[in-house]
Amino acid sequence: MDSPNRFATDANIFYMGLPFLTTSTYTYYITPQIYDEIRHIKKNVDGLNLLLITKKVVVMEASNENIVKVRKMEEQIGRNVLSEADQSIVALGIQLNVPVLSTDFSLVNVAKHLSIQVVIPGKKNFVTRSSGKYCSICKKFVTKNLEFCEYCGNRLIVKSKT
Ligand SMILES: [Zn+2]
Repeated sequence: MDSPNRFATDANIFYMGLPFLTTSTYTYYITPQIYDEIRHIKKNVDGLNLLLITKKVVVMEASNENIVKVRKMEEQIGRNVLSEADQSIVALGIQLNVPVLSTDFSLVNVAKHLSIQVVIPGKKNFVTRSSGKYCSICKKFVTKNLEFCEYCGNRLIVKSKT
């Protein structure tokens, strides 16, 4: 049975930080090629490891057969612009029969030609943990989007509410 919360996920989604923000009901499938790209996001390396351990992110190889399908479609469209990582993630979408999650127009275009469902991330599509401006001295969230606490003058930080 297919859950609507499973995706073949492009690297740009990780640059946006989406997998780090969503609730545990989402599973993000990536290929080793995508993994190579995103593990260079140094500041989120710890976060990424945690997502892998909790199986929120799952690394899976796309089969050659499916990669060839993607390449052939690209040739048919007449534009060869996708990287190997891009091709692998569309191929994984075919393989797992899950939507491709990406903001890359070229990738989305090829996926649509292959009749794969595509999800372009927007707030309405995802349940994110909410965050707000927080004062670590007053120990409370501030409703206004200020730089400094209006009570004590401390610099506010962005903190997750859950
Ligand atoms: Zn304060």
